[in-house]
Amino acid sequence: MAAENNTAKRKSPWEKGPQEVVSKRPRAESWRLDSGSVFARIVADSSGQKIAGFDLDSTLVNTKTGGRFATTAQDWCWFNPAVPDKLKELIADGFKIVIFTNQGGIKSAVNGVQATKVKARIDNVLGALEGCDNIRAFAACQKDQFRKPCTGMWELMERSSGVTANKEISFYCGDAAGRPGDHSADDKQFAAAVGLEFRLPEDIFGPSAKANAAAAELTGPNSTLAGAFRELGQLEAKNLDKPRASLYRSAARTLGRHPQKITSGKQAQKLAGIGKAVGEKVDEWLATTSISKLDELRRKFQ
Ligand SMILES: [Mg+2]
Repeated sequence: MAAENNTAKRKSPWEKGPQEVVSKRPRAESWRLDSGSVFARIVADSSGQKIAGFDLDSTLVNTKTGGRFATTAQDWCWFNPAVPDKLKELIADGFKIVIFTNQGGIKSAVNGVQATKVKARIDNVLGALEGCDNIRAFAACQKDQFRKPCTGMWELMERSSGVTANKEISFYCGDAAGRPGDHSADDKQFAAAVGLEFRLPEDIFGPSAKANAAAAELTGPNSTLAGAFRELGQLEAKNLDKPRASLYRSAARTLGRHPQKITSGKQAQKLAGIGKAVGEKVDEWLATTSISKLDELRRKFQ
């Protein structure tokens, strides 16, 4: 309210501190740049020997937009709804939660827009944990001794708190475990290099909301319709039409996750992100169980 009444006096975003630009949440914590390449989120109470270490992306959170990389400081959602309560449980159990994240997109631009976004995004995530946002975080910006699987961030955590963690009762959790489809094994190797028990996000929180939604796409009331659009998206990608590929894949997700049976293109067009072009194809599919464009592309790429 105060900010709204103050519009005349409002400075340009670039005259404000960088964190104020992206997040208006008040906070006592601050970020410090260490060794020119790793950001550390400083909190009031950093003592504790029992560490529950977590990776950030695809572990505590996913992007809201569904992409691998966050687009804004607000582009996050919990890995699944169980995350906040599980973290609170760990804290109640005497664990100190610490985030160790590789943020290679920052590189040496430590005062840049990307760095500001990464820090504000972590603050936003932790700020959403009512009553327990007093959580440390470390973000490695470059390919150096701080980047997982190297152990620099862990050593910095111990150095900055002045406390040696008890590795027997601490653990580290991350999604990069070298499984088929994983982008790396950095998290698993980081845990091994530090000497910690390694856990997957699913071990602690259960299946991700993303995985549950993807499973619903295959079993929901519109799974066959969604399948047609998914295939259309794949074939448009082969056809090198990226915008259409993205449009149809997104339509496939939306239709597949809709809990009620779609019975007309008009009804489909009421769903977010579905326009006339997709609506017409929905009508075509409902009337004929085929889509002429899909048949055409199938013939082309058979
Ligand atoms: Mg990750």
